[in-house]
Amino acid sequence: SQLDHIRNFSIIAHIDHGKSTLSDRFIQVCGGLSDREMQAQVLDSMDIERERGITIKAQSVTLDYKARNGEVYQLNFIDTPGHVDFSYEVSRSLSACEGALLVVDAAQGVEAQSVANCYTAIEQGLEVRPVLNKMDLPQADPDKVAQEIEEIIGLDATDAVRCSAKSGLNIEDVLEDLVANIPPPEGDPDAPLQALIIDSWFDSYLGVVSLIRVKNGSIKKGDKIRMKSTGRDHLVDGIGIFTPKMTPTGELGTGEVGYMVGSIKDIHGAPVGDTIVSAKFPDVDALPGFQKVKPQVYAGLFPVSSDDFEAFRDALEKLSLNDASLFYEPENSDALGFGFRCGFLGMLHMEIIQERLEREYDLDLITTAPTVIYEVVNKKGEVLMVDNPSKLPDPGVIDEMREPIAECNILVPQEYLGNVITLCIEKRGVQVDMQYTGTQVALKYEIPLAEVVMDFFDRLKSASRGFASLDYNFTRFQEAPLVRLDVLVNGERVDALAVIMHRDNVRRRGASLTEKMKELIPRQMFDVAIQAAMGNQVVARTTVKALRKNVTAKCYGGDVSRKKKLLQKQKEGKKRMKQIGSVEIPQSAFLAVLKVD
Ligand code: GDP
Ligand code: MG
Repeated sequence: SQLDHIRNFSIIAHIDHGKSTLSDRFIQVCGGLSDREMQAQVLDSMDIERERGITIKAQSVTLDYKARNGEVYQLNFIDTPGHVDFSYEVSRSLSACEGALLVVDAAQGVEAQSVANCYTAIEQGLEVRPVLNKMDLPQADPDKVAQEIEEIIGLDATDAVRCSAKSGLNIEDVLEDLVANIPPPEGDPDAPLQALIIDSWFDSYLGVVSLIRVKNGSIKKGDKIRMKSTGRDHLVDGIGIFTPKMTPTGELGTGEVGYMVGSIKDIHGAPVGDTIVSAKFPDVDALPGFQKVKPQVYAGLFPVSSDDFEAFRDALEKLSLNDASLFYEPENSDALGFGFRCGFLGMLHMEIIQERLEREYDLDLITTAPTVIYEVVNKKGEVLMVDNPSKLPDPGVIDEMREPIAECNILVPQEYLGNVITLCIEKRGVQVDMQYTGTQVALKYEIPLAEVVMDFFDRLKSASRGFASLDYNFTRFQEAPLVRLDVLVNGERVDALAVIMHRDNVRRRGASLTEKMKELIPRQMFDVAIQAAMGNQVVARTTVKALRKNVTAKCYGGDVSRKKKLLQKQKEGKKRMKQIGSVEIPQSAFLAVLKVD
């Protein structure tokens, strides 16, 4: 296409504001798929995404839109994930675009994630066009929401298109607005090739497939290209676009977005953020890449059956090809045997990885309680990074402990402000800023990251009936009186149950943790003593009393179906048990620390 007939844009929105539904409408309007091919949510292709209703990987679609002026425009849009754990994917998608569509739910209003992503877009020099979605809902209040967009984000929303992705209202107006206001890409079609790799993934038939944006020149099937980072040359086997089906075109010109397959068998051969140039003109500059993302949350993952260790390693390797943010290294636990220490962007990311490992690779895993990374200064003045409580040095050699602090931006309707402030204080937060904007309040707090990643998001939602929203970023490490709480089962310290926490919380959390364990650890044929200890000092204890009767004996009378259910439940529970010494401990016990306060 001619440059001035191309529009590259991303869609940014808070989760559930209708980004995927709107994308599907665009595909429908532009005739990208037949009705039969049009699944309920085309773009959310991974099973897990569909079940959880969230978008994890960015996806791109190229559509031809016949505008009201009679001209046909090539629209390349990149869907982005909305969850706070995945904001790095958002900034990557934005780097391939000249504009962004900000979708705001007209019944819900502006949320923190939209604000954060919007600022990223504006910082990257993109034209941001707001649209008010869900106009079909009776509680839609577009005037109020337009005012919020102006007050909170600072974007003029007077002309924002009011649409409904669900009913199809004004969808073409949204596309017209994009064509009229988002600038076409710039670039020199006659210059040597320069293209950016936005994403790469491994396809078992094709090898590495990359999503690319051509900045200058063009790339054709059969071309010999060079990767700037590796200096290696490859032949281009396939070039095309997603409609959203993979559709070969043989060529991508300046300004266009599409896929490239280049007989690359190793994912490290086409890293995300790399620049592709022509092997004939290899001296073309590399484009600025992407910031590397660091895991925020670490946990140990162990196969329930030690026979699965190799299969587990293999699965992690494959998954990490598709997910550069997943970190893993072998870990050996006295209690759980051989497994991997894994690093994740947040709790949702962790849950998704665990689910994919179990579902796609058929593994049964035990996960230990997630932890953040701590800076520990020892008496020699050395700084150690500790991502595993059981690896924390002896208190005697520690000079200082530092915990990561997150800067949290929270948007909350005024009526829930009190609840939210109480929660922030409970989570050891320090207020940095508070601004009233219309009916919403924008709060800025510094809160220890450990408190944020655990259950803060869920608590925030319940403290505000779902209305508050959150965006957070790591800012720095800060000294804190932190200690390790150990759990002893029948006198034996279980390394995989240890947690690092604030000294002030030790007694309270120790007590509720042992109580929780008592509920979770099934009765055995003998008494099981559970203790919580800080160093040599026991801070709480409980006992799981011995059980001598069969479990079904609990069902007095002859309720057969109930008995069956109970046995079934016991069997399912079995799968996720780990023998520790002579005691069987279920998966839930390892995560119990997340459930106590
Ligand atoms: P995303 O998380 O931003 O991708 O949001 P989705 O597109 O998955 O939509 C979230 C929910 O809102 C789904 O249940 C949609 O059916 C619903 N939804 C999306 N657009 C509209 C709309 O215009 N009106 C109404 N009433 N519901 C909508
Ligand atoms: Mg979605």
